[in-house]
Amino acid sequence: MHELSTAVSIVETVTRVAEANNVKKVLEINVEIGQFTFINPEQLKFLFEIASDNTPLKNSKLNILTVPGKLHCNDCGYSGDAISEEDQKKAHLLQLVGFSAKCPRCNSSNTEIIGGRELNIKNIKAEVEEEGQ
Ligand SMILES: [Zn+2]
Repeated sequence: MHELSTAVSIVETVTRVAEANNVKKVLEINVEIGQFTFINPEQLKFLFEIASDNTPLKNSKLNILTVPGKLHCNDCGYSGDAISEEDQKKAHLLQLVGFSAKCPRCNSSNTEIIGGRELNIKNIKAEVEEEGQ
């Protein structure tokens, strides 16, 4: 399952960072997920909770920001965001689930995905272990 391997990889990466920085408890993790990863944010959050058990990430909050994908259209030559700004506002409400890779200018399906497959851990909020405890 795509979401499970993603959840495990987030937990492993953050655990490594936490251990290297004397972090006893991770509070919040902000991740950016490209639209064309087709990851379901709700499912990812659920699996993250399971994967983070018995780690410094237990009970931390996973904040997911979906970033729009980028397309190049072979028909009209358009290169840019896969959806118009107006659609992005709507799509954010729907968390961009199930969006197809059609050109926003001419509606052609003859497109190439040029961005939006990334997954970035943006930042982490954590409690650092104090000296002498
Ligand atoms: Zn086009």
